[in-house]
Amino acid sequence: MRKPFIAGNWKMNKTPSEARELVNKLKEITGNRTDVDMAVCPNDVSLQGVVEELASTNIKVGAQNMHWKESGAYTGETAPGMLADLGIEYIIIGHSERRQIFNETDQDVNRKVKSALQYDLKPIICVGESLAEREAGKTKETVTFQVKAALAGVRSEDIEKVTIAYEPIWAIGTGESASAEQAADTINKIRKIIAELAPGKESEVRIQYGGSVKPHNIEEFMSKPDIDGALVGGASLEAESFAGVIENA
Ligand code: 13P
Repeated sequence: MRKPFIAGNWKMNKTPSEARELVNKLKEITGNRTDVDMAVCPNDVSLQGVVEELASTNIKVGAQNMHWKESGAYTGETAPGMLADLGIEYIIIGHSERRQIFNETDQDVNRKVKSALQYDLKPIICVGESLAEREAGKTKETVTFQVKAALAGVRSEDIEKVTIAYEPIWAIGTGESASAEQAADTINKIRKIIAELAPGKESEVRIQYGGSVKPHNIEEFMSKPDIDGALVGGASLEAESFAGVIENA
């Protein structure tokens, strides 16, 4: 049985003090839940503070990006070992904002996934189609390509450590989520791809939906057997609304 997994992607929001304040409220409301895996993914400068605040709770911490190299002359980048040393558990890889704004390629995503696994960081790999791709009927083709590229060369025994977040780009930050049926349809396809790549692992890999998830619509997504949780943007920026998503998951 796959345990539901709700993660909050804070993107470039919250100062380190605001981050501490937010997770302090959050842990009061929902810090002891054991039936749902929970994670927050703050910006790098807030990671240490958030790890400290959440130390004795069930809320895990993830980062939003990393470089694949161990160390070296890569000004401005964060290495996987640095995150692991802080006690970070998850790493978001290949978010559409990184792909679109920072030109991350499928090959970069694949390198990061393999590197993260070497450092025992659990990748949350984001995939999803643009509006133009959906309108052209290319949703499944796009997502298939992205999933296969991200997982190329990943050992079958490592695949279960990966979470896939299906985030249609047109649903991100727009307030217009995909319907639960649309999300489940694509997520079912992703599960079939996992089955092809690593037979048997399709029942273990968690696949989240992301894109305008709120406390009021999470239940609908969770009612679909293939949807294991959500990667939440805007609604993760307030303790009450993120806890609401967790509560209703
Ligand atoms: P919103 O929930 O704000 O649409 O963001 C989704 C997202 O991009 C999470 O990674």
